[in-house]
Amino acid sequence: MSNPPERRDLVPPLVRSVAQRFGSAAELERYNRGEAEGLFLYGRYDNPTVAAVERELAGMQQVESGCLFASGMAAATTAVLAHLKAGDELVAARNIYGGMHKFLAHVAPAWGLSTRLVDAGELAEANTLRPNTRLVYFESPVNPTLRLVDAVRVVKAARAHGALTLVDSTFGPPPMQNLAALGVDLVIHSVTKYLNGHSDVLGGVVLGARQNVEPVRKLRRVLGGNMDPAAAWELSRGLRTLEVRFARQQQTAQQLAENLAQDPRVAKVSYPGLPGHPDHALAKAQMRGFGAMVTFTVSGGYPAAARVFDALELFARAASLGSVESLCSLPVISSHAGLSPKELAAAGVEPGMVRLSVGLESPEALWADLDRALARAAA
Ligand code: PLP
Repeated sequence: MSNPPERRDLVPPLVRSVAQRFGSAAELERYNRGEAEGLFLYGRYDNPTVAAVERELAGMQQVESGCLFASGMAAATTAVLAHLKAGDELVAARNIYGGMHKFLAHVAPAWGLSTRLVDAGELAEANTLRPNTRLVYFESPVNPTLRLVDAVRVVKAARAHGALTLVDSTFGPPPMQNLAALGVDLVIHSVTKYLNGHSDVLGGVVLGARQNVEPVRKLRRVLGGNMDPAAAWELSRGLRTLEVRFARQQQTAQQLAENLAQDPRVAKVSYPGLPGHPDHALAKAQMRGFGAMVTFTVSGGYPAAARVFDALELFARAASLGSVESLCSLPVISSHAGLSPKELAAAGVEPGMVRLSVGLESPEALWADLDRALARAAA
């Protein structure tokens, strides 16, 4: 079969076909040997549109390779399974996304993987890792406290033990942080959030050096969690505006955080861009910008937070984050629902917390909404 004519499309083409025609047995043999670049055998293995977007994402994260999945959870779980075998240990920070917490606490151990959850600060301590620790897993910034994990220190401790590091960087997309550049071996994102940015695509990506991503890709072929080409194509459209979207969202978040910090109706504001944030200095060193998530605590506990939540008009009461529309959630009944008071305290989650995902609406309109909601809740 001759090569396709040179493509001149301004945007990547969407290829929906689940298979390609091969010209001969010899060509198929070359494909099987990995020598037929640009040929795709079957949609569960690979697809031209998905591969193009994977290259785009790898470029943004400045790594060799990327592997897209149908969800952030499919990306994270396949990455973990690809790098561990029965008897190996994974050490993770306690404060991670609830779905991953369930996987590590209940699913992975049933299959013979050893998992241990520790305080994020302990990840960098020499005696935390054991001889069979193969993978160190963490998130930064952490939901909903927006505390940071010092990636350089964690990488150093893991390397000394010959363990790989994996960060879920969903709260810190590429324009804001590149923990791969600080030595983290594998970076995952739920692309459902900032990378797509429009609340209309579910997906995940694993990024890193080829030698660390290829085992993940190989397992994806078997487990079958790869991204649909149409979703990848829509994701590529979202990626083209990521930098400008995120710059504006960060700017508005900083402004709202500063307003909230000066407001007597608010007990506490968690935003890495505020000088009083416990990780402000680390944020300046580890990130470019401080993100577009803001968490604040109202005195009066959950009932007071629920009153603020119910009074919001512009912030949507909706799950997820990272979209062009501003969203609001109450961690105790969403991301951390069902946790005991002791577990909530260990995660740093206060009953009166309100979490904001700042979108692209005008900063003035967003502040007016918060101001009104705080006033109504206090009335
Ligand atoms: N990681 C973080 C930090 C998340 O917030 C989420 C989802 O909310 C995920 C991973 C899972 O991503 P997905 O819902 O795309 O599977």
